[in-house]
Amino acid sequence: MNVTVVERGLLEFQFSQLRNLPLIHGMSGHNNSAPAEGDIAYSSISDPTDTTANRRAFFAELGLNLESLTLGRQVHGNTVHAVVASDRGRGQPPSFDGFPDTDGLITAAPDITLGVITGDCVPIVLYDPRKHVLAVIHAGWRGTVSLIAKRAVEAMKAGYQCRPRTILAGIGPSICPSCYEVGDEVVDAWMASGIPDARRAVLSRDGSQYFDLWTANRYALMAAGVQRRNIEDSAICTRCESHAFFSRRAAVAGDSRKGSQMMVAQLTQRS
Ligand SMILES: [Zn+2]
Repeated sequence: MNVTVVERGLLEFQFSQLRNLPLIHGMSGHNNSAPAEGDIAYSSISDPTDTTANRRAFFAELGLNLESLTLGRQVHGNTVHAVVASDRGRGQPPSFDGFPDTDGLITAAPDITLGVITGDCVPIVLYDPRKHVLAVIHAGWRGTVSLIAKRAVEAMKAGYQCRPRTILAGIGPSICPSCYEVGDEVVDAWMASGIPDARRAVLSRDGSQYFDLWTANRYALMAAGVQRRNIEDSAICTRCESHAFFSRRAAVAGDSRKGSQMMVAQLTQRS
């Protein structure tokens, strides 16, 4: 007897507060039954044919066109780029002509899917329902301590007349403080960021230091004027949940396959 097994897709996470709004968003994850276990990055790790298949499957699942995907060339920096209609599709093969040195993207244009690729770093989605403006950010520790989240809000304010207090923010699945032991260079850079109460995002245990990327990015958003109640924390750790997500640290420890996932978001027409 044949039993049809319906495999789950690549969509692994969505923010509750961003559902039922005029945007489509979601984050892919790790899936044993997908090609290259769902790896969605073009790199030396996976066959590009598998990466393309995974991107197509993930976009189809969300009802998005892969041709709309627009990316930056992420460098763990704090540059946020404005994206207009004519940029649609930048960063895709074969040219990989994404915005240079860019870890955050903002747009008011429909039909553009903003994406960031992560493997433990923090994906952040910002949406202003009043101005219908969207941003997607990749915040590793370097981006976090150089306050890319705050810079993105400031860019939405300066370029799109957004009011920070109306912006909805989501801090997506990424490495948790318990899994993220760091050295002095990380702690020192964070403590120099000028964020009030910065110390609260650094934890000490058995002589080691751990950086709380979730709290740090929340503080950065709040420093830009985003309301605490408008920030949704996924509180999902990619390292603890490495069956569901790719985790750089899990891969380095030999506990999982190397690979990456993607957070995407796109504005839709307002009714
Ligand atoms: Zn963890």
